[in-house]
Amino acid sequence: MTTETSFLAQVDAAFDRAAAYTSHDRTLLNQIKACNAVYYISFPLRRDDGTIEVIHAYRAEHSHHRMPTKGGIRYSMGVNSDEVMALAALMTYKCALLDVPFGGAKGGIRIDSNAYSVGELERITRRYAFELWKKNFIGPGLDVPAPDYGTGSREMAWIADTYQSLSGGDLNAMACVTAKPVNQGGIRGRNEATGRGVMFGLREACRVTEDMKALGLTPGLSGKRVVVQGLGNVGYHAAKFLSEEGAILVGLAEYEGSISNPNGLDLEMVVAHRKATGSILGFPGAKDLPNSLAALELDCDILVPAALENVITAENAPRIKAKIIGEGANGPTNDAADQILRGRGVYILPDFYLNAGGVTVSYFEWLKNLSHVRFGRMERRFEEQSNRGILDVIGRASGQVLGEDEMLKIAHGASEEELVNSGLEDSMIEAYHEIRAVQKGLGKDIDLRTAALVSSINKVASSYMALGIFP
Ligand code: GLU
Repeated sequence: MTTETSFLAQVDAAFDRAAAYTSHDRTLLNQIKACNAVYYISFPLRRDDGTIEVIHAYRAEHSHHRMPTKGGIRYSMGVNSDEVMALAALMTYKCALLDVPFGGAKGGIRIDSNAYSVGELERITRRYAFELWKKNFIGPGLDVPAPDYGTGSREMAWIADTYQSLSGGDLNAMACVTAKPVNQGGIRGRNEATGRGVMFGLREACRVTEDMKALGLTPGLSGKRVVVQGLGNVGYHAAKFLSEEGAILVGLAEYEGSISNPNGLDLEMVVAHRKATGSILGFPGAKDLPNSLAALELDCDILVPAALENVITAENAPRIKAKIIGEGANGPTNDAADQILRGRGVYILPDFYLNAGGVTVSYFEWLKNLSHVRFGRMERRFEEQSNRGILDVIGRASGQVLGEDEMLKIAHGASEEELVNSGLEDSMIEAYHEIRAVQKGLGKDIDLRTAALVSSINKVASSYMALGIFP
């Protein structure tokens, strides 16, 4: 693999650029940058037709400065050691930035998930989980996978079940993987979390009047013209929550092509059309574009690439019209494109900030599994009773007694989902302002990616420095 195409080289280039703004010793920076462990596995799969196929899989644990390590598992033909190492490094920086107390990891199996039956996928997934278990590459305190491109809660349920059956009565076994189905130890709100986080991050960025002014935009998400590339879990939910906030979806892309309509596209109708016809193309009232990448060049305010890495390159970067790029995917903008766009004043919300909602809610799920109780279970009713008591007293004193509907709206105790969403919102808002504060401290010309990386590096560095090894 050449340096130009290596994903890891791109991530490391961004790291080096940010590291230059820190005062840490080079040996410490080298330790932070290095991937701590990579495990390559191959195993045979007996296919439904009786033939045997060799499956290739990986798990990279980028940083053991905090345990467990954390990150998704993807099923894609693009999986290789370079890719999982790059993605694992991004997970370290993501977790550090959001104060999620994990090191970064990522796994992958080199398969096209559409080419296998459900039974075959189950056999592949369970065997992969077994191989990870055999080498201590999975466990609530070791390494905790989650979904990524091509996987979802179904695969996580298979992994949890495999781990549980191997771990001999370990009470915490369910914390070995996150984004499980809710009735298999999952948490409400995890499925939508990454897309919801993308919306929270973009909404916060759009709230800062001076930044919007500098971009020639008005504050607020409402009325912003948005293009979303990729309608998987991240892209679909990002598009859904952005449009609920009043943004207008002027372009949508899937791998078969893309569509645009400057007056706005109805997401649910597009999804229904794709379900019925097998393609987003041909959607009534919309213009068909020749391919998925064409959507990246549409006239819009916000572009959300939410599929795979390396879609914005030096080739198409000069033609991108968006003023804001919200990286829903990991690594969608390569380093050369990043430099071109920065030079043109495009405001990029970097992947390891903007898509951190998934791992943030994974952290909540892990905590739920370890505490063996649903968030809100102990206090929800108590909260409601005391709020009702307070409102009753105020109502009697002021002569303004609330109706039951109004009372319930104000007094009700928070459910698990409300707590999860509020914790996610808080994390995304806090992290955004932390990045901006670092950016301000470094000087006006520093881009958000560099500022965010400086923040991540400093946090990982402080953890290593507490060991007293590094100067
Ligand atoms: N795969 C997701 C990511 O890239 C989620 C990771 C997790 O929840 O551990 O952030």
